[in-house]
Amino acid sequence: MTTDTSDGMGPGMGVDQELVEAATRLVVARARGDDHTVAAAARCRAGGIVTGMNVYHFTGGPCAELVAIGAAAGQGAYELTAIVAVGDGGRGVMPPCGRCRQVLSDYFPEIEVVVATENGLRAVPVRELLPYAYRSADHNP
Ligand SMILES: [Zn+2]
Repeated sequence: MTTDTSDGMGPGMGVDQELVEAATRLVVARARGDDHTVAAAARCRAGGIVTGMNVYHFTGGPCAELVAIGAAAGQGAYELTAIVAVGDGGRGVMPPCGRCRQVLSDYFPEIEVVVATENGLRAVPVRELLPYAYRSADHNP
């Protein structure tokens, strides 16, 4: 079941449970050793869900969020409205790293990111995760 984030609960309050479940199912099914330890699930504007897993590499392999963004683009989904990452070993929902916050903010300035708080899961606008963000001329001419 999906909890829409624009249902009057106010921005950031609704958590897309289906998204969390998709990332959780993937990481439980596919986490492997040290190379693939986090799964991400992104909600496309058209309604579908696209998932991806991180690819660890010491040179800076892509996080699960970035893999999900690329997988979405590969399906023609260039507008994402929400994203979540879930770690293996029962780590649960994980916040995006700094690089992912920048990428998400640049490509999807309106996206909501599911994060774990002391009061449970919460969907927060990416700009709240990256205040005073650097703005590349590539993304903000
Ligand atoms: Zn990251």
